[in-house]
Amino acid sequence: MSSARTFEENRATANEALERLSKGPLLHLINGESVPSSSSSTFENFSPIDGTSLGQVAAGGGDEVALAAEAAASAFDDWVTRPGSERKKILHSVADLIVQRADEIAAVESVDTGQPIRFMSSAAIRGAENFRYFADAAPGALDGKAMPTSTHLNYSSRRAIGPVGVITPWNTPFMLSTWKIAPALASGCTVVHKPAEWSPLTASILGEIAHEAGLPAGALNVVHGTGEIAGKALTEHPAVTAIAFVGESSTGSLIQAQGAPTLKRLHFELGGKNPVIVFDDADLERSLDAVVFMIYSLNGERCTSSSRLLVHDTIHDWFVEKLTERVKGLTVGDPLDPATEIGPLIHPVHCEKVRSYIDAAIEDGATVVTGDYSFDEGSNFVNPMLFVDADNSMRVSQEEIFGPALTVIPFSNETEVIQIANDVDYGLAGYLWTQDVGRAHRVAQGLDVGMIWVNSQNVRHLPTPFGGTKRSGVGRDGGDYSFDFYMETKNVAVAYDVHDIGKLGVNNT
Ligand code: NAD
Repeated sequence: MSSARTFEENRATANEALERLSKGPLLHLINGESVPSSSSSTFENFSPIDGTSLGQVAAGGGDEVALAAEAAASAFDDWVTRPGSERKKILHSVADLIVQRADEIAAVESVDTGQPIRFMSSAAIRGAENFRYFADAAPGALDGKAMPTSTHLNYSSRRAIGPVGVITPWNTPFMLSTWKIAPALASGCTVVHKPAEWSPLTASILGEIAHEAGLPAGALNVVHGTGEIAGKALTEHPAVTAIAFVGESSTGSLIQAQGAPTLKRLHFELGGKNPVIVFDDADLERSLDAVVFMIYSLNGERCTSSSRLLVHDTIHDWFVEKLTERVKGLTVGDPLDPATEIGPLIHPVHCEKVRSYIDAAIEDGATVVTGDYSFDEGSNFVNPMLFVDADNSMRVSQEEIFGPALTVIPFSNETEVIQIANDVDYGLAGYLWTQDVGRAHRVAQGLDVGMIWVNSQNVRHLPTPFGGTKRSGVGRDGGDYSFDFYMETKNVAVAYDVHDIGKLGVNNT
């Protein structure tokens, strides 16, 4: 992975990889083999940059999911009984190979998703870090607790739950899939991965890498296809014990219903409408940087993006003026260009949805400072949007736009800002800027969200819990929290032979 690559170098890397990946249809990976769908059906994958075809992709259905689930079930006993040190070694090799191929992964991801290369380069490396972190944790994953009493020694231990399904979205598909697959494999689970149909390419690269690193056949399977068919079949398959899902809240509801007959264990990382709160005593320059970064990086297609700016009314006008300059200065362009800050959005359907919020903002009475329809109808590019004069009841304040669009709402005091921040269906993350320590703690306690950053943008520390409240998710990832999902805890109570055992049946003799 080299740091300063040019646009031309990124393009050449992407072209070379795409030529290889699109020789024939992109196939499923089942039991270590690249296989087409039994029906030979495929779907076409398009680049958001210019709508050109990135090739055909095998469209999986119930048959492919069944084969993959059976392969994962067959591989489970071998994988789960290997010493943690062996899983550690293999997962470190996966991380090494990701680092070796990071330029390729980043370039392919940019072309497939429209996400700027500047962010995809670090996302590829984050993928490797996820594997390294959970590789190191693998030998201790079985560890439990000793809970002695005066009569018994209770001790717990953990064991992987079996084959699991991982279903991922298109916004940073490679990094997000490693965040699920690495802890699942480290714990001893085997995996069937169903990547998003709008961005299938890097899931296949991860499958190649995992097997080159020595992962046994069947331990990681990849089934391509739509959510409604392949995803649904995965959530319904009886051999799959759990589903780790990242995506929209409404899809989470569907999966909960689909998984109910087979009592799936579920972990959901869903949508967000995250507030960033800036008080007038904050370091205003740093908070401005973070406010801009956390909504306009990654095309705003980021679950933890701070899409609502709640700004103290005393600094509102100053902040909006500075913000406007910065938003107007953002560079929209080809995602492979290292200068690009905002690339094309993933798909025409999504682009249409994001653009529609310009009309929603106007209809609801907000002022559109930046953001317009100046790009052609067929183009997936949008100009970054900034909405002011808004209140929290408007659609741009309540709905997850999942694009480069920020809504600014003024507040006058702590009580009011906590009420506004919490008055949404979501509760993923919150960001808080103040130099008053007491206020920081008070507001952090008041926010109904899973994660809060104080005087910081989103900086992940892998052992910490990641997840949301309300419609933003169910459960937590990160460190040992991930193992709790992918493993079953067993308690053993061993008596010291000193406790009383009630005698039944002795009076009848
Ligand atoms: P989506 O819910 O449309 O799709 C996600 C995945 O689910 C895809 O692989 C899709 O094929 C599959 N799917 C769709 N219907 C299904 C069904 N009935 N059964 C099984 N699988 C099905 O989400 P998206 O549009 O790809 O991604 C954007 C969403 O993801 C946003 O809401 C964003 O906030 C969320 N997200 C959340 C986090 C987080 O950590 N909380 C991270 C990234 C993205």
